[in-house]
Amino acid sequence: MTDSTRQADVIVVGAGPAGSSTAYWLAHAGLKVLLLEKATFPRDKICGDGLTPRAVRALISMGVDIDDPGFSRNKGLRIYGGGVKIELPWPELASFPDFGLVRTRMDLDQLLALHAAKAGAELIQGCTVTGPIIDDRTDRVTGVTARHEGGEVEFHAPLVVAADGNSSRLSLALGLRRREDRPMGVAVRRYYESPRHTDEYMEAWLELWDGQRLLPGYGWVFPVADGTCNVGLGLLNTSKSFQNVDYRAMLKGWTANMPEEWRFDEEHATGPTRGAALPMGFNRQPHYTRGMLLVGDAGGMINPFNGEGIDYALEAGHLAADIIVQALARRTPAQRERTLYEYPRILKDEHGGYFTLARVFVQAIGDPRVMKFLTAHGLPHPTLMRFTLKLLANLTDPKGGDAMDRIINAMQKVAPAA
Ligand SMILES: Cc1cc2nc3c(=O)[nH]c(=O)nc-3n(C[C@H](O)[C@H](O)[C@H](O)COP(=O)(O)OP(=O)(O)OC[C@H]3O[C@@H](n4cnc5c(N)ncnc54)[C@H](O)[C@@H]3O)c2cc1C
Repeated sequence: MTDSTRQADVIVVGAGPAGSSTAYWLAHAGLKVLLLEKATFPRDKICGDGLTPRAVRALISMGVDIDDPGFSRNKGLRIYGGGVKIELPWPELASFPDFGLVRTRMDLDQLLALHAAKAGAELIQGCTVTGPIIDDRTDRVTGVTARHEGGEVEFHAPLVVAADGNSSRLSLALGLRRREDRPMGVAVRRYYESPRHTDEYMEAWLELWDGQRLLPGYGWVFPVADGTCNVGLGLLNTSKSFQNVDYRAMLKGWTANMPEEWRFDEEHATGPTRGAALPMGFNRQPHYTRGMLLVGDAGGMINPFNGEGIDYALEAGHLAADIIVQALARRTPAQRERTLYEYPRILKDEHGGYFTLARVFVQAIGDPRVMKFLTAHGLPHPTLMRFTLKLLANLTDPKGGDAMDRIINAMQKVAPAA
């Protein structure tokens, strides 16, 4: 590593979707960016691998080749619940494509990191950031310390982006802890070789049965089109069962009740069941402080309605980069700071009301009786379900949409920002 790599306009910590998007857009605007990643690609990340049209839109904006055969395309969501199965195509909208994608994170994250590097970001892998460097005089973050190739290294930049995921050590080092009043999820997933790997729908299971026993939580089956399906389930901390669940046993119990020919069994599993946390509803704030911006899971940006975080990470990375580019072009520190505070303000403006609605919703469905009522009375009504899909996947046209779009947009506006 040369000396010049130690100084940059911006340091981005973590090359998941959040970090790679931020680095891509910064490099695209001509800034000198260091993208520091502790792992070496390809690396796994526990995820459902599902990309709804919102995520697809963000990938298209970045110029990612979504026609690459590694992406498995789907046309909607199949929902199981209350003894009913319903297929809902992704909505036709001006603002979003009408298809979703699935791609393993083993592939996707490497692809995005290399995409950022191709745009000009310097990707340094195997580089574990150990803490922020704080200027005593200004009390601002001016860089990070890291372990790289067996040595201690310092990297300096006027701005640092924490895109280091759910545990975000960097945020913790600045005293930014998780908000306990925001929903948190835990989910597990496993890959199985299955004839269903090219299914045209992503599946959501609102009820999980183990024989006669109704299990807490919700499940998914996402076709990867590489011979496997990603099958998983999760639970929110708004559920009473959250503390004492054996997730692996639950996945086993649920899949054991599925048709044998789907092959979601031990013999056809391609690896172990693995689990991780889902930080939701802006559970870590503020998203900008003292020279550091939080992007993606570091800032708790997962949608509590459906557990999606990749799209919000990609979008927030784009926004953070835009704001940083503008801020660095300002003449005085005061002007720069005022611009940087636009980042949390715009995030709240865009998603705050929606995340508050989601919080109320997940609080309500934490009671299994409410969930049972909703599945029994909602699922048989296609129009209501089309509305629900738009609401849960956050897919509406902001202007010129249909009546459903207008209702959802109005609900978001009146809800207090999260
Ligand atoms: C089981 C499960 C299923 C999910 N399913 C879906 C889904 O289907 N669709 C969806 O949209 N979302 C899903 N999510 C959420 C999604 O995985 C996250 O929201 C998304 O990964 C957030 O991206 P990120 O870049 O913020 O964080 P991450 O993807 O966690 O990336 C953080 C990166 O930072 C690196 N890093 C961490 N610490 C350091 C350090 N000290 N120094 C250097 N690098 C560091 C890590 O190695 C990692 O590469 C799921 C989550 C779980 C747990």
